[in-house]
Amino acid sequence: MSAWTDFRAHHPVGRALAVGFCLMVCIILLITGCSVIGNRPPPYDWPKLMVHRHGVPHSEMRVACSQYVPWHSAAESCAVIYFDLKECHIYLSLDFPSLAVAEHEEKHCKGWDHLGDTTLLDAWEWYKK
Ligand SMILES: [Zn+2]
Repeated sequence: MSAWTDFRAHHPVGRALAVGFCLMVCIILLITGCSVIGNRPPPYDWPKLMVHRHGVPHSEMRVACSQYVPWHSAAESCAVIYFDLKECHIYLSLDFPSLAVAEHEEKHCKGWDHLGDTTLLDAWEWYKK
């Protein structure tokens, strides 16, 4: 059982994600490698999230992350944020380890968006309503 499958099996929110229900409710998905972290600070009230790092074979990382990238892109890693659980799950490839990629995802867990992007900010504002 992969880390992703195991996570989904033990987290109702993760199961909801599997059917696409929870995507708009509690989850933000961020893909790295396609952009750089911006210079706008995170929202002042960004929650402190427990970070869970999942180092998995590249193929498993792709399973966990590729559903959140455009069809023409290849995921390199991702951070999955569950505001309701106050958790951030980072999926990294063990086959292509990169400190820079890990640090990139850690910043997403802390509320940093990509340059010119407001995905995290928008999701947080939406979640608070
Ligand atoms: Zn990113």
